[in-house]
Amino acid sequence: MKLAALGEVMVELAPQASEKGAQSGGAGRPLLAQSYAGDTYNTAVYIARGGVDVSYVTLLGDDPYSEEVLTRLAGEGIDTSAIVRLPGRCPGLYMIQNTADGERYFTYWRGEAPARELFTDVDRREQLKAHLRQMDCLYLSGITLAIMTSEARAELLAFLGEYRANGGRVAFDSNYRPRLWRSVEAARTAVAEFMAVTDMALLTFEDEQALWGDTDTEQCVQRNTAAGVAELVIKRGAEPVLLQYRSERSEVEVPAVSSVLDTTGAGDSFNAGYLAARLQGASPEQSIVAGNRCAARVIGHRGAIIPRADYFSASAAGGPGEAVAQG
Ligand code: ADP
Repeated sequence: MKLAALGEVMVELAPQASEKGAQSGGAGRPLLAQSYAGDTYNTAVYIARGGVDVSYVTLLGDDPYSEEVLTRLAGEGIDTSAIVRLPGRCPGLYMIQNTADGERYFTYWRGEAPARELFTDVDRREQLKAHLRQMDCLYLSGITLAIMTSEARAELLAFLGEYRANGGRVAFDSNYRPRLWRSVEAARTAVAEFMAVTDMALLTFEDEQALWGDTDTEQCVQRNTAAGVAELVIKRGAEPVLLQYRSERSEVEVPAVSSVLDTTGAGDSFNAGYLAARLQGASPEQSIVAGNRCAARVIGHRGAIIPRADYFSASAAGGPGEAVAQG
């Protein structure tokens, strides 16, 4: 089994954490820790750690930060052969601010990011399609769609139709970020189009509420099953995960996590645990258990991408356990 994840990875600047909170760099300025993150990138990393072959698909520049992204992907055993480098360009950047009440705010500089050119150039697109056709599953998100041009989105949509007709599976998380879209209507139109070519929808109820105004989960289930989604998973933080698989509805409890340190990447890592298990033959219910375990490891540490040693020691110590539940 091999999966390709499509999207954007950014340079991340986050206040350096200490036991007492952010460390000061003097004059009230926090010291900043520099890393890399992006929703589909986070998921790609944890799927690879779950033992499934992964290819990450994006565009980068030829700067040292792009170079470091490639080094990190390779360090996770992720195939970078479909990543295109654009001369003179560099990745987008975002900063995290922590407020006194523990909330987090994100500020982005990503308007000129090379990833915005995904699926735009005709020659590069044909090469990428050939690469994607070799995959058993493709994973993308509402953020992937939001950063693309509308023409490129239409090309990707048509390709996914062909890809599924040839037996490929598409997994999608709506990950609605209002500021990336021209209007809520534009986001709804794009998400609805892609939901119609989605086999596995891994949604967060909060995002669905923000996008569609759902007042209860039933509306979310109805809309997505009507769109033809056969496998629908709805994440709700610490609340049980909802599953609508074909005509069967069920709920899977989320085990309590004793120290939730940072929920950054919770949904992304859940998706990774789910997909890694699912692609290795687990049932949807078993895959939700695996998704919860993967997310539990990540929210017990700071940052979207936790160090490999911490990730694997969490299971060795009898913590959240193996990410992959075989079925
Ligand atoms: P997102 O990160 O997209 O907002 P959620 O907050 O719904 O996603 O969380 C995704 C998954 O992370 C949940 O299904 C669960 O497995 C785990 N999770 C999130 N918050 C908690 C929590 N407080 N306790 C235990 N698990 C959690």
